[in-house]
Amino acid sequence: MADDARPFRPEALPMKPILELAPEELPGEGYRKAQIAHWLYARGVREFSEMTDLPKGLREALAQEWRISEFALVEAYPSRDGSVKYLFTLLDGKKTEAVYMPYENRKTVCLSSMVGCPAGCTFCATGALGFGRNLTAAEILDQLLAIAYHQGISPREIRNVVLMGMGEPLLNLTNVLKAVRTLLHPKGLAMSPRRITLSTVGIPRGIYRLAEEDLGIRLALSLHAPDDETRKKIIPTAHRYPIAEIMEAVRAYYAKTKRRVTFEYTLLQGLNDHPWQARLLSRLLKGLSAHVNLIPFNPWPGAPVKGTPKAGILAFAEELKRQGIPTSVRFSRGQDVGAACGQLALRTPQALTFKPLPEDAGR
Ligand code: SAH
Ligand code: SF4
Repeated sequence: MADDARPFRPEALPMKPILELAPEELPGEGYRKAQIAHWLYARGVREFSEMTDLPKGLREALAQEWRISEFALVEAYPSRDGSVKYLFTLLDGKKTEAVYMPYENRKTVCLSSMVGCPAGCTFCATGALGFGRNLTAAEILDQLLAIAYHQGISPREIRNVVLMGMGEPLLNLTNVLKAVRTLLHPKGLAMSPRRITLSTVGIPRGIYRLAEEDLGIRLALSLHAPDDETRKKIIPTAHRYPIAEIMEAVRAYYAKTKRRVTFEYTLLQGLNDHPWQARLLSRLLKGLSAHVNLIPFNPWPGAPVKGTPKAGILAFAEELKRQGIPTSVRFSRGQDVGAACGQLALRTPQALTFKPLPEDAGR
């Protein structure tokens, strides 16, 4: 992480972040607000000068007071499979990442909620980085906007968002909720809540708060082990939050929202891939409207764990299905540019051999 110990104070920058405002809080009276919201979220412009149906004086006044972009630099690393990893240099010089996945007519972005992550899961490259800082709501939203701009599409063409990038969203929930409200807002990105998935390592108070907010978004829980003993070996927060407490919170989330919860499970050789663990997992999930997503481990240099070979993954999946648990295996994409789960934050020589596209490519 940067050696800069001063806290980031967005208010100390000369211009204020306009993406922090809800659409109804935007500057101007009724019609003006709607015009500005349309330019920001439907047209995806990144300069006030481009808001051509606003009077010139107003555009100049807006640019004096507000900023749109939260990034000093945007770099893109295209993968052979069509996904694109984006590396963002924030205005304080820190870095965060996102991934664009344009497959099967479903344009999806994977967004980060932090620089690094304080949770320190042993199998995760972001965890190995440590904690940088929380991202602001504007920085979370602007990842999507900058990707759309770079891709030459309207931000509203991106129909799916997964909060599965760097960081633990439930440890930055105020900012994450603010960003999600603009994603959902009809004058914002106008997204359907079913198409937003928040993935968490399992912070019970965060899950309860999310249930109370009742935004209708999907929850994915990174369980990775059905027993506390195993879980503590790979997920440090498991010492604070036992599985029973997390499951109680998940049941409350389901009771309130009626949204099926996804359980993520990365298979690690000799740690969480035994048949007894598959059976224990199915007992844990019985009666819940649950779905298990098995994730093959994405290796990174220096990782202290190894992935379960493919045959073992399929056997684990079979055991779960035999117990009646809906299960899928997610062979992830973007591995060649370090854009797969848990690989964000990596600076592999391979990723660096890709030349960043010019910022205005594709427009
Ligand atoms: N902090 C949140 C969201 C980001 S991680 C969370 O932990 O849920 C998104 C998913 O990728 C999580 O399920 C995480 O456990 C998983 N993951 C992290 N590193 C991985 C790796 N190297 N291989 C496979 N999955 C990984
Ligand atoms: Fe943080 Fe999630 Fe990585 Fe764990 S898996 S270190 S919670 S980003």
